[in-house]
Amino acid sequence: MMIKKNYCYASLALCAFTTILGCDDGHFILPRDLTKKTRKTTKAKNPFDLKKVPLKAGVVPIVVLGAGPGGLSAGLYAAAQFDTVIIAGEEPSLLTETSYVENWLGAPHQLGADLIQKSREQAESAGARIIDSTVKKVDLSKWPFTITLDDGKVMHALALIVATGARPRMLGVPGEKEYWAKGVSACARCDSLFYKNKNVMVVGGGDGAIEQAVELARYAKEVTIVHRRSQLRAAGSMQTRLKSYPQIHIMYDVDVKEVIGDKKKVTGIKLFNNQTKKQEIVPIDGVFLAIGHRPNTDLVKDVLEADSLGYIILQCSTQQTSIPGVFAAGDVADPHYRQAIVAAGDGAKAAIDAIEFLETLGFTLAEANKLRTVSNVEQKEEKQTFEK
Ligand code: NDP
Repeated sequence: MMIKKNYCYASLALCAFTTILGCDDGHFILPRDLTKKTRKTTKAKNPFDLKKVPLKAGVVPIVVLGAGPGGLSAGLYAAAQFDTVIIAGEEPSLLTETSYVENWLGAPHQLGADLIQKSREQAESAGARIIDSTVKKVDLSKWPFTITLDDGKVMHALALIVATGARPRMLGVPGEKEYWAKGVSACARCDSLFYKNKNVMVVGGGDGAIEQAVELARYAKEVTIVHRRSQLRAAGSMQTRLKSYPQIHIMYDVDVKEVIGDKKKVTGIKLFNNQTKKQEIVPIDGVFLAIGHRPNTDLVKDVLEADSLGYIILQCSTQQTSIPGVFAAGDVADPHYRQAIVAAGDGAKAAIDAIEFLETLGFTLAEANKLRTVSNVEQKEEKQTFEK
């Protein structure tokens, strides 16, 4: 019973349901169970009444926001059962910006962009419709949920999967963007193999910086943590880990001013000691940013329950968010693992949860077919009008 009412302020009906959402023997309570419980505890009407859902184009059984590994995997699984639309959004998947992915099961040494392209094709061949538009607004206060696109088009989702990812925070210094994936990275677990016997720097002073430094120390010759203050923010236990790695050094009171390169790759870094006020250029092969991440939750901020860092909170061991019918997958709900393959696993789970949610409401394949027929007819008519 941990859902706070203010996260679903916009809808009294959905709120009545979400406030009683909780774990039942390690699994979330489905709407069927909720209806039973609410009957006893509140007079709330069932906000998930399929009979009230209009049979028209624009009503989609499952809508997925985001086309990274989480969103595409969700689309692949969901489309096998019900019509599914994936809205790709304007932010490309982080994977398209990395170079080679070495830890994707069964497909070693794949370019991130190729992996995403193949995943898109796979999701589409399973029946998912991918729309390369940006979402302007999401209204979760009423069911079906309303999604407004940038071009004004409106979609109504019976189940929604949020897979909008997270972005590493950037320093905002010259060279950082130019050399992204050419020596600048935010994921040691993804890229440490490329730095065998090389010298690298990790920027930041939190647990993330220690974790990345330790990961890099497995391959790199020397790892230097560069921190802007005179003491690390990282937990004592994390700092103790550093003692077993003589190849990890720490530079305190240092600000990064520029990432320097030879147009192809990183060759050095410009540092400024904020105590001595001295500037120096240090030759380096790689720069790892560990100054935190920002989940892409602007569309659902203050509506879905989130932790202090803004990551969407999931219920029990499912991908269910604080609003029934809304699920999340990948980095947007994962402050810890942040791995493409984990996001893909989350996506599969979210799709299965969404399918179970719809089936529990009584949404059958027959209903889905009726909706598809209406949708096809309306789309055909719209096309003919347009062509006239
Ligand atoms: P944090 O927010 O904890 O730390 C970010 C670090 O980056 C801080 O030291 C901060 O400096 C520094 N920083 C922020 N902005 C800048 C900037 N513009 N220029 C230079 N330095 C900057 O992020 P983390 O990713 O490290 O951790 C996020 C959360 O995940 C934490 O709760 C952490 O405990 C957890 N985590 C746990 C792990 C584990 O237990 N194994 C591993 C990784 C993360 P300052 O200290 O001055 O603010």
